[in-house]
Amino acid sequence: LVAPADLFGAGRRNSVGFDLSDEGTLARIEAARTSAHVVAEALTVRPATGEMQPITNPATGEKIGEVIHVDAATVTRAIEDAHVWDAPPAERAAVLRRAADLYEENFGAIFATLAREAGKSLPDAVGELREAVDFLRYYATEGEFASGAPRGIFGAISPWNFPLAIFSGQIAAALMAGNAVIAKPAEPTPMIATIGVRLLHEAGVPKSALQLLPGRGSVVGTALASDARIAGMVFTGSTATAQTIARNMATNLAPGTPLIAETGGLNAMIVDSTALPEQAVRDIVASSFRSAGQRCSALRCLYVQEDIAPHVIEMIKGAMNELVVGDPWFLTTDVGPVIDTRAQTGIADYIAQNRSRILHQLAVPAQGTFIPPTMLKVNGIEDLDREIFGPVLHVATFRGEDLGRVVEAINAKGFGLTFGLHTRIDARVQEVSEAIHVGNIYVNRNQIGAVVGSQPFGGEGLSGTGPKAGGPNYLTRFFKPAAAPAAN
Ligand code: GLU
Repeated sequence: LVAPADLFGAGRRNSVGFDLSDEGTLARIEAARTSAHVVAEALTVRPATGEMQPITNPATGEKIGEVIHVDAATVTRAIEDAHVWDAPPAERAAVLRRAADLYEENFGAIFATLAREAGKSLPDAVGELREAVDFLRYYATEGEFASGAPRGIFGAISPWNFPLAIFSGQIAAALMAGNAVIAKPAEPTPMIATIGVRLLHEAGVPKSALQLLPGRGSVVGTALASDARIAGMVFTGSTATAQTIARNMATNLAPGTPLIAETGGLNAMIVDSTALPEQAVRDIVASSFRSAGQRCSALRCLYVQEDIAPHVIEMIKGAMNELVVGDPWFLTTDVGPVIDTRAQTGIADYIAQNRSRILHQLAVPAQGTFIPPTMLKVNGIEDLDREIFGPVLHVATFRGEDLGRVVEAINAKGFGLTFGLHTRIDARVQEVSEAIHVGNIYVNRNQIGAVVGSQPFGGEGLSGTGPKAGGPNYLTRFFKPAAAPAAN
């Protein structure tokens, strides 16, 4: 977490990190916590109408603010008021870079809000801010010299698990291609979205090019995906919601209107008997329990080769015992709460139904929406009937001669987001990587935390449409396809 001050050269800003052991840094975060009650806002050209709703801190159950849930009439007005941003690309890039600088300068409010509204541990909050500014700067650079024409108005629907990073990434990409954006933040996390959009406006993005509409998916999301004036949708969230959006778009929008979707996963890791157990266990625990398992990239089903399995499982238990589960406000916390009571109940019911499979489970605070990090024994990925979006790791064992069947079983689930492999056999890396159908493969490391610009992130099959976020093909989809050259 301690950033080398000058990694990119003297005097240049960088987004490497923040030092959470520094008193001054901590004081800025603390000050943001105790400052005024934040009202999350609709940031629209004309005033919004709707209903006020409370915002809750998932770790404490305390009410920390309120937000307007806008009505369908507000969505219609926002679409009427939206205007593509016709500044030259270099100017748009400069504005996004200025926004990235403002994000960094406002780290106190951003970390405090990520911890209190989204239940992010502070190290996760640091990673999230870094990813957000990386997206802003990366798309600024990618779009600066691009010459395509904008499509028009984009609807951007983002998830609560990366409520600043993915939120800002969608907006930055759509804006850099010259589009107007109407952004709907996830229901639990409108406060951090308000901070982001205020800073983007302060940096110079015109209000008509970027509006923020907090509210319900069934009102705002549906209204956006059903309005013929929308030229494209970008979405990250569940596979089921992506399918609903696609249906609304197919019925109401012009044929060929793009939906760029990043959805769920049922991600596996294979650890064979040549793997280095100490390394594998560290990576298993990080991949399953970091962010309380609330990443679409998270490890859900681990396969350990039979001969080392008892040893590795004991080591995972030991490593799990080292995790501190609690309020993200404390620096010592490794695993925070899940996002809300609905998520908590759903995951708790799942664990209760699978009580007989529990290999290991931690204790959690009584108050707040916590789920105990849990390891369950399964026969294989076929036992998982859906993505459990929380700190639940399933473990299966396999015999060496069954490796091919394991790969087939993973592919057969139809998801294809991340996959991890721990082995010291080079030929196996090659062979398994070719056979497995996923967007991101990680070898001998953890399988979360793709880095913008160097590890473009996105899946195939039920996991998403591509192109990968944070990669060189992403912006292309936000431009109008180039007209075919005239025949001569
Ligand atoms: N990009 C994130 C990662 O690599 C996951 C994004 C998500 O959960 O939607 O961990």
